[in-house]
Amino acid sequence: MTKVNLGILGGGQLGSLLAIAAKKLEIKTIIFCNDKDAPAKHYCDDFIFGDYKDLKCIEEFVNKVDLVTFEFENIPFETLDQINKQKKVYPKPEINKVIQNRLLEKNFINNLNIKTTSYKSIKSKIEIESNKNLIPGLLKTCTLGYDGKGQFKIDSINDLKDLKLETNNEFILEKFIDLKKEISIILTRFKKNSYEIYEPIENVHKDQILKTSKIPAEINDKLKTLSKEWAVSISESLDYIGTLCVEFFIDKKDNLYVNEIAPRVHNSGHLTINSHNVSQFENHLRAVCQFEKINTEKMFNAEMINLIGDDILEYRDKKLKDNEFFFDYKKKSIKPKRKMGHLTRIIK
Ligand code: AMP
Repeated sequence: MTKVNLGILGGGQLGSLLAIAAKKLEIKTIIFCNDKDAPAKHYCDDFIFGDYKDLKCIEEFVNKVDLVTFEFENIPFETLDQINKQKKVYPKPEINKVIQNRLLEKNFINNLNIKTTSYKSIKSKIEIESNKNLIPGLLKTCTLGYDGKGQFKIDSINDLKDLKLETNNEFILEKFIDLKKEISIILTRFKKNSYEIYEPIENVHKDQILKTSKIPAEINDKLKTLSKEWAVSISESLDYIGTLCVEFFIDKKDNLYVNEIAPRVHNSGHLTINSHNVSQFENHLRAVCQFEKINTEKMFNAEMINLIGDDILEYRDKKLKDNEFFFDYKKKSIKPKRKMGHLTRIIK
């Protein structure tokens, strides 16, 4: 069997975990990343460092690969589109164009009759003042925000005094939800109506960064079914290939809202490496490389803790119990709020 040469755009922890899963499937990974010290450098077979818009790097990358996927959604659309003209990119780049922009993403979800929080496109401070019904709310940049970056909480009109809106940026104002829980659905779509879907995962965020995930989520059966149905409907409508994550909010009255879609493997699915017979990473690779789909089953319940900033230091020397699995992303330096590794604990 000839090996597949899989190009991956992005070299963070998700790229690393994809490259590790690829070894088992005898897929050769070629990573293209704009960080010369990217963690995935330690795990891939070939590494290209350069700006995502650098034509020479794109050409070198395209020549080395059979097909391409990506580990984060903010790769410039033009780059994905250009690569896709020569080698197939999965999931297809048009999906990213929608998901890279919070406003387009929310419009798309609502057009499927799926509920999101109430929101409004905002270009100026005056527009915030005329949408008082969305306060308390969160002002979010339409593009390039993640892990709470590019977000500003507005508790009352008074908060606008300190607010400086960059005029060249677009925003949405989103109604703040009194959260009961947050969950995510991870699914891998192979082709039309062909999926592997993990049961809902319950997530806790601290300072808008994912802190813990556990499976199973403690939610009622109605929410379990509805969240899965919505995730399937989203992936079907996008004609998605690969692993996708849909993040949800549940309010105090058990209403379900889609928060956002991640067109890639997701941090809340790291526990699938140890809890399931096939992880979200392996399923992604199987789908994009058109390998056999394996019936995915849970072997253990599990919980995952993200090790953020200095948290990692304690774990590097820690003696682990036999149900604990520690992953060090081997990032070059420790920074506050930076995801440095994670620990998964399976519950036997
Ligand atoms: P995001 O980057 O939009 O996924 O936001 C990160 C986290 O901030 C979410 O997982 C929530 O914990 C919190 N958050 C974001 N938007 C809202 C909202 N409209 N209401 C309540 N909490 C929110």
